[in-house]
Amino acid sequence: MLKINIRGIKLCNSLIPWNSFLTFLLITLQILVEYWPCIFLAILVDDVAGGAAKAVLTRDAVMLVGGDVVLFVLIHILQHYYFYCGSNIWELANVQLNKKIMDMDYEYMESEAVQNRRRDIDSMARDNADGGGINKLFWNIMALLRCSFSILIIFFYTVYLFSRSGVAFKGEPAKAVAFVSVFVILFAILMFIAIQKNKSIQKKIYKHNEEMLPLFRQMHFYTEEYISTEKCGKIIRMFHQQNLLSNYIEELFKKLNNKINSIGRLDENRNEWTGVIETIISGLVYLLLGIMVLKDTISIGSVCLYAGCISRFLMDFRHFVNVVTDLASNTKYVKIYFDFLDIPNRKYQGTLPIEKRDDDKFTIEFQNVSFRYPGSSKYVLKNFSIKFNIGERLAVVGKNGSGKTTFIKLLCRLYDPTEGEIFLNGIDIRKYNYKEYLSLFSVVFQDFKIPAFPLGQNVAASIEYDKVKAEDALKRAGLSGLLSKLPYGLDTPVYKDFDSRGVDISGGEAQKVAIARALYHDTPFVILDEPTAALDPLAEYEIYSRFDELVGTKTAVYISHRLSSCQFCNDILVIDKGKAVQRGNHSKLIKEKDSLYYKLWNTQAKYYKVEGESV
Ligand code: ADP
Repeated sequence: MLKINIRGIKLCNSLIPWNSFLTFLLITLQILVEYWPCIFLAILVDDVAGGAAKAVLTRDAVMLVGGDVVLFVLIHILQHYYFYCGSNIWELANVQLNKKIMDMDYEYMESEAVQNRRRDIDSMARDNADGGGINKLFWNIMALLRCSFSILIIFFYTVYLFSRSGVAFKGEPAKAVAFVSVFVILFAILMFIAIQKNKSIQKKIYKHNEEMLPLFRQMHFYTEEYISTEKCGKIIRMFHQQNLLSNYIEELFKKLNNKINSIGRLDENRNEWTGVIETIISGLVYLLLGIMVLKDTISIGSVCLYAGCISRFLMDFRHFVNVVTDLASNTKYVKIYFDFLDIPNRKYQGTLPIEKRDDDKFTIEFQNVSFRYPGSSKYVLKNFSIKFNIGERLAVVGKNGSGKTTFIKLLCRLYDPTEGEIFLNGIDIRKYNYKEYLSLFSVVFQDFKIPAFPLGQNVAASIEYDKVKAEDALKRAGLSGLLSKLPYGLDTPVYKDFDSRGVDISGGEAQKVAIARALYHDTPFVILDEPTAALDPLAEYEIYSRFDELVGTKTAVYISHRLSSCQFCNDILVIDKGKAVQRGNHSKLIKEKDSLYYKLWNTQAKYYKVEGESV
């Protein structure tokens, strides 16, 4: 527990410059301001009772009020700065998570468990009634240090006062030692009981919090990912899903409310417990003070001082117990945060540089590749073997779910084969430097995304870019018309999400932007995975007819389940149930009667045939 929290504190220190120094300074001033009035009030009362001179009383009063004001102002300034720095601690910690997500092995992105963990960390920090993680650790450490120091100071001060012969136990040091010992033991026992009790309550609170996480996840899905999106807005209206969704959300609210109420009750219970212990300690101390006043062994000033210190001490004691138990249960959340950061990248990164070839003669070969997704027992590709050379155009066709996209993911090393090997120029692709290997490919995925950046930055995937090249890529992708209409040219933001100057583009135009992005990068391989899915027939035809011009001398892999769109490729690979079943050009494949290609072609052709015309 200590190790995790220390790591958390180190992280906070690295995220917020001067954090440790600032914390230390603030705590010192806070403790001073807490006890300053007690000490100087006691001195003033004693001086008044002892008939001190006016000058002495004035000095006492100035010290009491002036010191307090100075401390108050200093604390105010520092606290303002501290809160300013700490207010975005979660955002800063989140930056680390985002960096991790962007650099982690791609397979984790498709892992439901990893995605859920990420959502949970977020939900713990934001939604959870008693969660927190790094955020809570940051604020609680300050509180813990402050009340620990305060308790220590008051403890030693009390011990000193009580044991000082001449104040409480005049000339009876043995009695003083006995009293202090009893006080220490009693205090330790009560503290132990309070912490144990709090721990068991905190455990129950943690359990409720854990049970709330999937509920928050569902709530997040319904409210953020379903009912507030345009896509689902249509379905909700068309299928009258309003009641269905309201019921689900209401049910979730009820469940969450029950949990929050249970946590509230446990919290009250916890406070009651510390309250009882507080009362016992304060009762004992006040009893003793009373006896000492009666016996005339203590001055009225000292009574003021003790009473002030004791009430301060009790407040700090209650706070200390709460903070310690809070930190104990928060450790689990901090651990989840670090566990996420510590997810190891298992992919072998390779060291071999990619051979720079003037003749662009690259050969890719899949040799007996079998693959199943992590956690799945089903083989998506089985004994898959193909070979193709650079400069060639390979079309990959097959039914939905036959493994076409998976083939691309393996080619781009987003996943490594479960069995078998993939070679680039005769060398296992795992041996190549991973980043260099990735930079061989430009891919337009079927589930591509165009973020709301300026158009030019979107195409270049960079803040600084070559404007001529970006415009050229957009024109080649068929967006000359759009480009000429944009009010700020390449600087026009795509979509209006974050900027009212932006332009909304259609699905087809977005797909062309994705194609332009692939072309801008000028890589030896261009991979288009169902690139025409969102295009109208004319735009689709335009892409096919200009395909050679689009990809130039590059190797192009073109994936489609629409066979008519692959005719322009001389080399067509047919995949079925994860196996390469046919290869050749259209006229060869269509001659293979009863083959999958033949069946698919004839099934699809039916829909395109116009009376009196062939496809
Ligand atoms: P295609 O591109 O030919 O439509 P895919 O390669 O996308 O097919 O998918 C092939 C099979 O792999 C499908 O059965 C699909 O459900 C499964 N699949 C795809 N992605 C994953 C994943 N991340 N985890 C588990 N199974 C997956």
